[in-house]
Amino acid sequence: MQIRQNLADAVGNTPLIRLNGPSEATGCEIYGKAEFLNPGQSVKDRAALWIIRDAMARGQLKPGGTIVEGTAGNTGIGLALVGASMGFRTVIVIPETQSQEKKDMIRLAGAELVEVPAVPYKNPDNYVKYSGRLAEELANTLPEGAIWANQFDNTANREAHIEGTGPEIWAQTDGKVNGFICAIGTGGTLAGVGMALQPRGVKIGLADPGGSAMYSIYRTGEADASGSSITEGIGQGRVTANLEGFTPDFLAKIEDDEALRVTFDLLKHEGLCLGGSSGINVAGAMAMARDMGPGHTIVTVLCDYGTRYQSKVWNPEFLREKGLPVPDWLEKDASDL
Ligand code: PMP
Repeated sequence: MQIRQNLADAVGNTPLIRLNGPSEATGCEIYGKAEFLNPGQSVKDRAALWIIRDAMARGQLKPGGTIVEGTAGNTGIGLALVGASMGFRTVIVIPETQSQEKKDMIRLAGAELVEVPAVPYKNPDNYVKYSGRLAEELANTLPEGAIWANQFDNTANREAHIEGTGPEIWAQTDGKVNGFICAIGTGGTLAGVGMALQPRGVKIGLADPGGSAMYSIYRTGEADASGSSITEGIGQGRVTANLEGFTPDFLAKIEDDEALRVTFDLLKHEGLCLGGSSGINVAGAMAMARDMGPGHTIVTVLCDYGTRYQSKVWNPEFLREKGLPVPDWLEKDASDL
């Protein structure tokens, strides 16, 4: 019998899928780690599980306890679902600008959702800082206690990728992987996979969207967050604790129109319905392939499922409003068949 004991046991061990268009366009083997196949449909289920297990092991999270977190959405979904399967309550603080679909899913998953205005990190009412204060309050008032997951600076997040994602990629490619690239949200995925694979000779790249300072921080040491992006869950303005001790070998700045064209092609030609950060990652993998030259094997992350962004990435009106490309076929409906 092959039985998982609860939902938490179904997190990870995702397939690696050949991205045929990007591979053929570059002469490299480009593979996507299908993180959208996790139970909560995103890579963040991994961090959620490791943060919960770590807090339990430390005795900070006790039966019936509450998990509090500030999140762009996916970590909230992961914590709510994995938390429920292990008997914990979840309270999620989210910037109100995140997609309605993610907010609805967090509520559906049984978490309490607190929406706050999207303000910069240095503002005390920023969603991350707000969630930290709320966790402290609840820890002092709830009889079963509460913890702050603190995904940005809690390195249990990157452990999920040092112990899970990185070694999985190594095993799935029989150690033939030459490069790995993805964007930074908390940095858990990039630094974690980087720490697992860099010592084995794998080149690690950062794919950075507009409006994020990480490209310039690694290039020049100065934080320049110019530009903007519609992608959710990625972009960062500082070296989080998860990023400490890690340095990427290759840097790519990826604009939304390029990433969106890749995202649209992946659905149209390969049946992969993904969110915007996956497009940034695959476009980054193509940039890395061109830099390394043909014949290399490059892995990236397919972070979350596209239905989470039907009102944004997959909505012609939203794209037009933002001056972004809209493929003809996205406008078609059944009457065009
Ligand atoms: N893509 C999406 C859609 C995300 O929600 C996140 C997490 N915020 C990431 C990518 C980045 O992952 P990480 O936090 O591990 O850097």
